[in-house]
Amino acid sequence: MNKKVVVIGGGITGMEASVQLSALGYSVTILEKESQLGGHLKDWTVLFPNLRKGTEIVSFLEHGLELQEVNVIFNSKINEIKKINKHYEIIVEGRKTLVADAILVATGFDLFDAHRKEEFGYGIYENVITSYDLEKIFAKEGEIRTPSGIKPKRIGFIHCVGSRDEKVNNHYCSNVCCVTGVKQAMELKTLIPDAEIFNFYMDMRMFDTHFEELYLESQKKYGINFIRGRLSEANETIDKRIVIKVEDTLTSRPLKMTVDMMVLLVGMEPSKGTKEIANLLNLKMRESGFLKPEDDHTMSNVSNMPGVFFAGTCSGPMSIKYTFTDARAAVTKINCFLKEYELQNRILVN
Ligand code: SF4
Repeated sequence: MNKKVVVIGGGITGMEASVQLSALGYSVTILEKESQLGGHLKDWTVLFPNLRKGTEIVSFLEHGLELQEVNVIFNSKINEIKKINKHYEIIVEGRKTLVADAILVATGFDLFDAHRKEEFGYGIYENVITSYDLEKIFAKEGEIRTPSGIKPKRIGFIHCVGSRDEKVNNHYCSNVCCVTGVKQAMELKTLIPDAEIFNFYMDMRMFDTHFEELYLESQKKYGINFIRGRLSEANETIDKRIVIKVEDTLTSRPLKMTVDMMVLLVGMEPSKGTKEIANLLNLKMRESGFLKPEDDHTMSNVSNMPGVFFAGTCSGPMSIKYTFTDARAAVTKINCFLKEYELQNRILVN
């Protein structure tokens, strides 16, 4: 079998799909815009629910790509994609044109830019950081310190930053930031046992395997506090601490608290790369900017363009486990398409 599949994006979705496609006998090329594989995952120290290192998953997938001899082109910028009869020609800057019988778009997500929530003080107050910044602090050796150098004794996590928020036009839930807040709170408590940690949430959405148990464990074993309330205001004190004002939505009472560090749990947004590829291929997008499938139930990896499929967080927020599952589901659809199994690619007509 010498049919060719081009996978756009070398994050975990693109990597897993490429391993599986190659194992089925297809000739697979990954186009990655950066100089390394692994997307966001390589920046995450440990993962929920089992606290495995993010880099372990990336190495596991890299090994699979090597075994399957998948071709990877790094630093690739796609200038144009042309549909010629039954195949696509992909013009990559500075390289020879690639031909594909099928394309898998796996362009992932971007993290919400917390500067857009000016009222939370990110980029203005030194000790207001994002969940992504906290991972970088975890990755450093030695004692945990806030960016201004305080050893934090009271820390506040703010949920739903850039998600479920009309003001920034992101109405959806980002799916994994609640569990990220629980995981990071537990990590901080382990590193600073005498710290008081508060999570301010709208609703706790812990629906994946073992997430609810992790949430209970964080309260019972680690003493993490959860307050149902939305942040209304944040201000800095003279010694760089953060005064936060929250309305406790369970008791309907306002709450004021000073913390040494405030962590904004930033959500997912459609990536810049997803929008660029959608424009090049005329792919349908939802109002949120995530890719829209042909049918939400039966064709969730199938785009409106014949031979173009998508998987992972370019179609909406999802956890790592579902990213893997989605990659494999897309591989099944691509295999059916390339083998012309019409029955498998049927649409449910309303
Ligand atoms: S997962 Fe939690 S923090 Fe993230 S958007 Fe949904 S409810 Fe908010």
